Amino acid sequence: MNSMPQTAAPATPVIAIHGGAGTLTRSHISPEQERAYHAALQAVLRSGQAVLARGGSAMEAVCVAVQALEDCPLFNAGHGAVFTADATHELDAAVMDGATLAAGAVAGVTRVRNPVLAARSVLQDGQHVLMIGDAAERLAHKAGLALVAPDYFSTEARRAQLHTAQAQARGAVLDHDGAAAQAAQQVAGPGGEPLDEGSKMGTVGAVALDAHGHLAAATSTGGLTNKRPGRVGDSPLIGAGTYADDRQAAVSCTGHGESFIRVAAAHDVCARMAYGGATLQQASDAVVHQALAAIGGTGGLIAVDAHGNVCLPFNTEGMYRGLARVGEMPETFIYR
Ligand code: ASP
Repeated sequence: MNSMPQTAAPATPVIAIHGGAGTLTRSHISPEQERAYHAALQAVLRSGQAVLARGGSAMEAVCVAVQALEDCPLFNAGHGAVFTADATHELDAAVMDGATLAAGAVAGVTRVRNPVLAARSVLQDGQHVLMIGDAAERLAHKAGLALVAPDYFSTEARRAQLHTAQAQARGAVLDHDGAAAQAAQQVAGPGGEPLDEGSKMGTVGAVALDAHGHLAAATSTGGLTNKRPGRVGDSPLIGAGTYADDRQAAVSCTGHGESFIRVAAAHDVCARMAYGGATLQQASDAVVHQALAAIGGTGGLIAVDAHGNVCLPFNTEGMYRGLARVGEMPETFIYR
């Protein structure tokens, strides 16, 4: 399902999440593996929903949800992140508070267990918006966050994806797309993943509306398999992969980051609403199906507005996604 009805619904708190977009491998997927993805998404949604149900902030809810996604090896963020061309991990994350437009982000971190919390510590520190590498890690450490050995993030399935991408000389590839998934599947065992792990965009993200009418967004990623060391994608760039403004929307993107940067995708959703009077759905669809499509940009986004409307559009074959309103059952989806 790409979008939810745009009703004048009472502003029931709601959280939406994504775990990356990409090409389907429906024919390769076992029902058990598909269930595992749905179960993981459901558990993450429940954790964010619980925060919102007790009156917690949208910022807290998106951080709790993204932290859980980072800790889950099924997704390309935190543990289970993809490898760079040098077989290392470089992680990016961002958070933004729609009430104040305060934002924090980290890029190229290699030792922070939960990059989303490092991004939040940059926001809380308040001096800067985007910190990179060692210095970002020192700030995170000062904030009391856990540091880990770089191989904490590695999984054999991701290493197989890297080897496949390099053997095929494919350049940097999205985490949930096509043939390279099969290499990961051989490692992961029969069934593989619902989306092709070789070219899937496996970034994770969350957007939420809280009981106080405030919005927040968070995004975290390992980036693209086989990316050049030093490459930074859209996820930690405020306005590209992540944006939140209470007056319009909270947005978290997943896809080929270079394209999302070039169209300033997350902010473009808000700009279309602010300047053009577009609804959340019109703005989200236009960014994904027109602005990104026009430059060959593949991926999707999740967006919520202050009325509780939620849109989950993507221009790939699938996107791991879901939403949970307080008091309702979480809903999760993979395919169109
Ligand atoms: N957008 C991310 C990046 O380019 C990748 C992804 O969404 O999987 O770094």
